[in-house]
Amino acid sequence: MVDFTLTIDGTPVAVPAGTTIWEAARAAGIDVPALCHSPSLAPVGVCRMCVVDVGERVLAASCVRPCTEGMQVRTTSPAIEQHRRILTGLLLSEHPVPCARERTTGDCELERLGRRYGVASDRLRVTSSECGVRTAESPEDAALPVPHSALRTPHFRHSSFLQDLSSPVIAVDHRACILCDRCVRACDDVQGNHVIGRTGKGHAARIAFDLDAPMGESTCVACGECVAACPTGALVNKPITLPIVPRSELTATESVCPYCGVGCAITYHADASANRVVFAEGRESPVNRARLCVKGRYGWDYATHPQRLTKPLIRRAEFHPKGPLSPEVRSSLADRGRKPGGVVDYDDVLPAFREATWDEALDLVAARLKEIRDAHGGGALAGFGSAKCSNEEAYLFQKLVRAGFWTNNVDHCTRLCHASSVAALMETIGSGAVTNVFADVARADVCFVTGSHTAGNHPVAATFIKNAAERGTKLIVVDVRRHAMADFATHFAQIKPGTDVAFYNGLMHVLVREGLVDREFIADRTSGFEALRELVLADYSPERASAICGVPAETIVAIARTIGGGDGRAAKPQAGKLPAMIVFWGMGVSQHVTGTDNARCLISLCLLTGNVGKPGTGLHPLRGQNNVQGASDAGLIPMVFPDYQPVADAEVRHKFERAWNVPLDPRPGLTVVEIMHAALEQEVRGMYILGENPFISDPNGNKVRRALASLDFLVVQDIFLTETAEFADVVLPAASYFEKDGTYTNTDRRVQLGRKVLEPPGEARADWRIICDLANRLGLAMDYESPAEIFDEFAALTESYRGLSHANLGRDGKLWPCPDPERGDGAAILFDDAFPTADGRGKFVPCPWKPADELPDDSYPFVLNTGRVLEHWHTGSMTRRSYALSAIAPRAFAAMNPGDLERLGIAPGETIRVASRRGEIELEVRADDAIEPGGIFIPFHYREAAANILTTEALDPFGKIPEFKFCAVRVARA
Ligand code: SF4
Repeated sequence: MVDFTLTIDGTPVAVPAGTTIWEAARAAGIDVPALCHSPSLAPVGVCRMCVVDVGERVLAASCVRPCTEGMQVRTTSPAIEQHRRILTGLLLSEHPVPCARERTTGDCELERLGRRYGVASDRLRVTSSECGVRTAESPEDAALPVPHSALRTPHFRHSSFLQDLSSPVIAVDHRACILCDRCVRACDDVQGNHVIGRTGKGHAARIAFDLDAPMGESTCVACGECVAACPTGALVNKPITLPIVPRSELTATESVCPYCGVGCAITYHADASANRVVFAEGRESPVNRARLCVKGRYGWDYATHPQRLTKPLIRRAEFHPKGPLSPEVRSSLADRGRKPGGVVDYDDVLPAFREATWDEALDLVAARLKEIRDAHGGGALAGFGSAKCSNEEAYLFQKLVRAGFWTNNVDHCTRLCHASSVAALMETIGSGAVTNVFADVARADVCFVTGSHTAGNHPVAATFIKNAAERGTKLIVVDVRRHAMADFATHFAQIKPGTDVAFYNGLMHVLVREGLVDREFIADRTSGFEALRELVLADYSPERASAICGVPAETIVAIARTIGGGDGRAAKPQAGKLPAMIVFWGMGVSQHVTGTDNARCLISLCLLTGNVGKPGTGLHPLRGQNNVQGASDAGLIPMVFPDYQPVADAEVRHKFERAWNVPLDPRPGLTVVEIMHAALEQEVRGMYILGENPFISDPNGNKVRRALASLDFLVVQDIFLTETAEFADVVLPAASYFEKDGTYTNTDRRVQLGRKVLEPPGEARADWRIICDLANRLGLAMDYESPAEIFDEFAALTESYRGLSHANLGRDGKLWPCPDPERGDGAAILFDDAFPTADGRGKFVPCPWKPADELPDDSYPFVLNTGRVLEHWHTGSMTRRSYALSAIAPRAFAAMNPGDLERLGIAPGETIRVASRRGEIELEVRADDAIEPGGIFIPFHYREAAANILTTEALDPFGKIPEFKFCAVRVARA
C-alpha cells in the first residue's frame, strides 16, 4: 500500500504511512549508516549517525523520522559527512584496540565506519601490559574471571578493570560499549527478558545486568540476543570449540535447531578443515525471526564431543556366559556405569564391548532379530524410533518394524509427551496437529497458557507470547508452578496438581451460565454441547471447582469473563464476537492419567467460544522434541501408519501393503510403557532402539532397567554410549543431526530442511543408511539413494505432506497441508469452515474430574512434579556434553517451597533423599517460592539423580501416556 511519495537523493520513493526515512532509504537501496538502530529493534534515534537533511534548520535522525508526502531528503552532503566523521572519531577515540568483535567475527560496525570515514588514528590502545591485568586477547585469558568489585571502579572507562567474563558464553567489554542500547532493547523488546539496563552517570554510564551483578550471576538466560544486537565488541561470544574468526573464513550452512519443537532457523558457521562448528546465529524465518535460546545458539558442540561413537560395538564373549547376556550381568554392568557425574563413564562400560566391522555387527543384528521373529512371531520384537531423527528416518524405521519385523510394536517419545493431546484432538476435531501457528498469538485478544513453562521449554515461542502480552493481549497462565510466564500474565491461576479438569470445567460453567459463548459456532460447527452444558452447570460451579483446584472462585469467574469478553475490557474485540483466544498447552496438561480429559476440556473451551479456524485463535499443544510432530506424522506410532491412517483399517492397510509389497499386521502394536512391561514378561524378546534413552526417560526407571536386562537381544543405535546402550548386545554408531540432510517438522507443522554441516566421525553413518542396511539383511528391500527420495515415497502415501518435496521446501520450509507448494507457504490456520471428522463438526466430550493415580499419604506426603530446565534437553545425552549448557546448569537439583523446607529443618543447598514407592535418589535441594506447598519439582535430565527412578508408570487410558507429573514421595535430609 502506498500512502506517501517522497524523494530521496533525487529518487522518487513510494511508501506506506508510518515508514521512517531510514526504512524508505533502505528499501530504495540507499545506505544510511546507523549504530543505535537495527531493523529488528524499535528505533530510538540516540546515536545521530543516521542524520539526513530534510530541509530543516537541523539534520534529522532518519531512523525515527516518519516519511511525509513530498518530503525531499538528502542522505549525504559535505555537512552530513563531516558530522558522521566527527561522531565516528569521537566514538573511536575510546574504542579499544583490538576490538573483540573485529578480532572475532570481524564485523564491528564502528570499526567499519572508521574505515569508511578514514578515522583510524588516535585510538585508545588498551593492551594487557597497559592495563596491568590480562585481557581476553587469548583463549586462556578469556576464561579468567574479573573481580566484580573491579567493575565498580569509578572512571572505569579508563581503568584496567573493564571486562565481565563471568558468563560461560558471553564476554562483556565495557570499553567497547557506545551506549546505543541495542542490547537493552534486544533483551527487553525482543526476548522479553528484562535483564540489561543502564547504571552510572556521565562518563561512568554503562550497561548493567539486573542490579549491576556480573552477567554470569545475573538472571541472564544466555540467549545471546544481546550479542546478536551489539554493533561493537562490547558483547561478543566466547569461543566454544575453536577461536572465533570472521565469517568469511568459515563455511555457512542454513539449517534448523536440533533441540525443541519450535524449530528455530539457524546458520551454522563451521571450519571445514577442522570439522567443527565455530559459532551459530539465528536466521530470519517465519518461525523465529532470527531469535534463538541458549541451546540453539551455544549448545551445538556435543556433535564433536570426544565420546562420540565411531565404530560398531559388540558385547564381548566373556560378558555372555550363557549365550545372550544374563540379566544379572547386565544389571551389574549398569551399576558400574552409574557413577555420579554428567555422562556415562566410558572407562567402566566400554570394556564390556569390542569393536566390530559394520558387516559383522549388522549381520549379527539381522540374524538375532530374525531368529526371535521366526521363533516367537513378529510380536516378540519391538522398536523405539526417535523424534530427534528426520522425517525420512522416522518413516523408514516404522516401515522396517512393520514390514521387516512383522509387527506394529513401534513407538517413540510422543508417548511420553503429547500422546494424550493427540488422542483428544483426533477424537474431537479429527486431527492431531496444531490448528494455528504460535506466532498467531500476535493477533489474539487473549492467550491462555496452561501446563507449559514456555520460557524454559519453548523459549523462542515464549518470546512471541511475551511480546503479545506487552502489546496488550491478555495473558492467562495456569500452572502448578509460578514460572516466568506468570510475570507477564493478566491472570495467574496456581492450581493444585492433577486438578486441571475441575478448573477448566469451572471456567466453562461461568461461560455457559453467563452466556459468554459463541452460539452460532456451537450450532453450526459442533456436536454434543448439551451434555457438556449439563455437566458443567450441574457439578462445576466456581465454588466447587475452587474447592478441588485451589484457585479462588472469584479468580475463576474473572478468568472466564476475560475469555468470554464479559469483563468489558477485551483488548481488541472483534465486531459482535467473543475475544479471539489462542490456547497453548504443554506436558503439565498431557502427562497425567487424565491427560486426554485435560486436553478434551481445552478443546471444549475453544469450541464453546468459537476459537478455532480464525486468526488469533486455536489449539496449540507445544510439541517437545525438534521432530516429534514429524515422527508422529511419519508413523512412529503403534496404531497408525504415516499420516495417522489406522493399521486396523483394511483399506488403509492394503494401500500400504501394495506400496511396500508385504503383508502387514492388522493389530495395533504396543506403546512405550507396554513394551517395557512385555519385555519383563518375556513377551517382547528383541528390541531395536534408535536414538532413545528409555533408562532415563521412561517412568519407574528400576522397572525399565529390569525390562532392558530381560531382553534376549538389544541393539541400540545412537551417537553416544547412552545409559540404555549399556544394556545393548550391539551398539551402532550413528551420524549426528549435524552430519546428514533431512526434513524436520516443527510444532507449527512447518517442514524444514536440516542440512549437513559436518562430516561424521570415524565410521559413524546416517541413521537412514543403517536402517536400509539392516532392512536389506532382513529381506526387506530398501535401496534409497537419498533422503529426498525417501521423503517423496513418504509424502505420496499421505494427504498432509502430499506435494511437498526437498526441492520445493525452500529456505523457510512449508507448513503442511500445502496445496500449492510452488507458490504458497502452506496453511497457518486450519479448519476455518469444517473439521475433518465424519460429520465435519467438532465434538464436545464432557469430562468429570478424577483424581491422580497415586495420592500423597502419611508415608509419602509430597507430590512430585518432573520436567525440564532451560539449558538441558531430555535425557541430557546431548546437552550434558555441551560445554556451555553443562557449565550453566551442571547439577541435579530439587526445588521445594521454602516453608516446607523450614518445616523439615532442611536448609537450601543441603542434600536430600527423595523416595517413592519405586526407588529413591539423592540430590541438592533449592528453595523456590514458585513451588506450591506440598510439592517438589525435579528435572529429569540428570542421570546421577534420575527423577524417573521415582515416577509411576500409571497410564492415561486413551493416550497411554505415563503420569510423569504426579506421584507421591517423601523427603528427608540425606
Ligand atoms: Fe532451539 Fe527451541 Fe531454543 Fe529455538 S527455542 S533455539 S528450537 S531449543
